This record gives sequence, structure tokens and C-alpha cells, in this order.
Amino acid sequence: MLQSYFYVYSIMILEKGDFMNSVFLRLNNNEVNFVKDEKVNSLVNELKLKGILPIEDLKYIIENISISESRNLFKLADMVKNQYYGNKVYLRALIEVSNYCKQGCFYCGINRDNKSIKRYRLTEDEVFEAVKKAYDLGYRTFVLQGGDDPFLNDDIISSILVKIKTAFPQTRITLSLGEKTQASYDKLKLAGADRYLLRHETASFKHYMYLHPQDMLYDNRIKCLHYLRSSKYQVGTGMMIGSPYQTVDTLVSDLMFLYKFQPEMIGIGPFIHHHDTKFKDHSDGGLYETLIMISLARIIVPKALIPATTALGSIVEGGRELALKAGANVLMPNLGPEEQRELYKIYDNKITTSDSDIVFKNKLEKKLINEGHAVDYSVGDHIDLEGVKL
Ligand code: SF4
Repeated sequence: MLQSYFYVYSIMILEKGDFMNSVFLRLNNNEVNFVKDEKVNSLVNELKLKGILPIEDLKYIIENISISESRNLFKLADMVKNQYYGNKVYLRALIEVSNYCKQGCFYCGINRDNKSIKRYRLTEDEVFEAVKKAYDLGYRTFVLQGGDDPFLNDDIISSILVKIKTAFPQTRITLSLGEKTQASYDKLKLAGADRYLLRHETASFKHYMYLHPQDMLYDNRIKCLHYLRSSKYQVGTGMMIGSPYQTVDTLVSDLMFLYKFQPEMIGIGPFIHHHDTKFKDHSDGGLYETLIMISLARIIVPKALIPATTALGSIVEGGRELALKAGANVLMPNLGPEEQRELYKIYDNKITTSDSDIVFKNKLEKKLINEGHAVDYSVGDHIDLEGVKL
């Protein structure tokens, strides 16, 4: 079933020529090659058994995997996911609270240097209303995501957290609001935050410098991830696939970093250009490359919660559904106020829906069930934390 699912999509994607100019050499050569590289298959099997491989072997997989071997990888990743989480897909309500940002990430459409976009920031009441609406629809995890907005200081965020947790105590709040001090992370945790998403974007110091301005430091990003762990959050990190200057070595560094850090959540999506950024002319990341990295991440960090990202659904229709068959097990529909959804454009051609939230929910549930998933709106903690008082 899984094999044929991917076969059909492989052909569709190949016809569209949807491959990024990348380090995945056999994908890049557009080889439909059904001639298998048995070494790739055997290394992938070994990875599943051992949990990690030497750097050279990970490099070999990335450089030599083709559509043909990727099917075995996707199948194994799906098995690993099933072993810990079964066929559940966890639904989280995403609320984009602000598109102000003090940072200048070269790849991001809402970075501080983009003067062409309309900025917005939700009020405490607007955030609460969005959370309440999501709660009424059944969601029990709320992801408050925004730029690194200096206006949203610890007191303001804490006040929102307390209000949500007072009204809805048996829920989880995930924050994705950028780099902060240990003291800030502690304070927000105390106020009610449970999880924090902060992608490392690349585990290569040099590559990080190519993607960010001088005032953004790789060391600080990594330090923040360790702060979050010390503050007892469920920590999420991750990276873009196909970002400018990415190499096989940076991708292997990402995998090694994930293995060592063992995050509770991993967000992996394709790089997608934004027309108002320094990387506006760079080609976008590819579907298969991203799926392969999701699957490798699933095998290397078996118990992680891994979202099928909006970016994946934005490069190819059905991209998220494929990710859910390649190791991902979380979806985060946008439940923020409809007027603002259009304004949180971190990359071009971000998908949105014209359906109302209830219609979207019903369609999504039907689709997931048809594809063999069980829809789960519960808090959906990392498996090692289930039942633990946070
Ligand atoms: S990626 Fe995040 S921190 Fe960087 S500019 Fe965009 S919103 Fe700001």
C-alpha cells in the first residue's frame, strides 16, 4: 500500500521535474533509476538497527539515495513512528501572534529589513479568542508562533499564558518566539508554557553565517536550545532543506546534531524563497529531499514528534500527506484570525484555505482517516512524558 502510494507520487513529481538543485546527487540527476543501490538500502537498514551511523555512511545515503531506495527508507521511518505513536496524527492549533521581528534572517520574508510588508500583532484578547475557538473545535495544544518581537516581553507573554492556562488547564502551550535568556525561558515556563520550538536551521557554524546577519550568532542559537532543555521544556528544533549553501556535510551535521540533542520535536521543511529577501532568486528545496531528511530524522530520533510542515504542502500539493507516511505525525492547522493569516508570509506561495475552520477540520479529518490515520486532538505529549505532570 505504502509502496504504491509513493510510486504514484514519484511519477507525478518526476513529471513535474520537481527537484531542487541539491546535494542529493541521484535525485538531482533526475534518475527515475529503478536500478537499486543495495548499499543505500543496507545502510538504511543498519541505521534503523543501530540508531546512528558513522558520518561517511550518512553522507553515502544522502548522495546515493534515489526514488527507488527512498521507498524503503520511508517504509522503515513509518514503522518506527508506528512503534511509538501508532497511526495517530496529532493536531495542534497554530496561532501566528505577530509578524514583527528584530532579527534579519536572510531567508525569511518577515525579517526586520523587509519594509514592504504590513506588520501586525495580536492583542491578548485576540490571542485568547483564537485559543478559545480552537479549544471549542477540540484542539488541546496551542502553538503561539511569532517573529522575535521585542514588544512581546516576558510580562505580556506571561499574562497571555496565565489567562489561557487558567481557562483551559488541561492543555499544552507551545511557544515559538525566538531567542531569549535562560531567565526569560524560566519565567515563561512558570507562567504556563510547556513546549518551545526553535529551529537551529543548520548545525554548521559557517553555513549559519551565510544564512544570517553578523549580529545573529550560531553559538547563541545552540545555547538557547540548551537553556530550553534546562528550563524543562519539551524542545523542538529542526532545519530547512535546500537552503542556500547547504551541502552534504551540513546535512550530515544536522543529523548528528539531532542525534546528540535528541529533541522532543523536530521541524523539517523545504527552503522556499521570498521575493523580498536576499535569497529571492535561489531555487526552492525539493519534496523528496525533505521527505528523506524527515525519515532519517525519525529513525535517528525515534520518539520525536515531527510535524508535516505547511512549507511542504506549499511546494507540492499533497506534500504534507506524503510526510505523514514517511515518519511525520503532527499537523498544525492555522487557527489564528483569518485577516492576519495572509500577513504571516515567511516565504512565497504559502498555502492558505478559504474554508471556514469547521469545514477545514471536517475535510481534514475525513482525508486523514481515508489515508489510514487516527486523528488525535489530545495534548499529545512526547511519549516519554505521557502522564508526567509538567
Ligand atoms: S526566521 Fe524567525 S527570527 Fe528569523 S527573521 Fe523570520 S521570524 Fe524573525
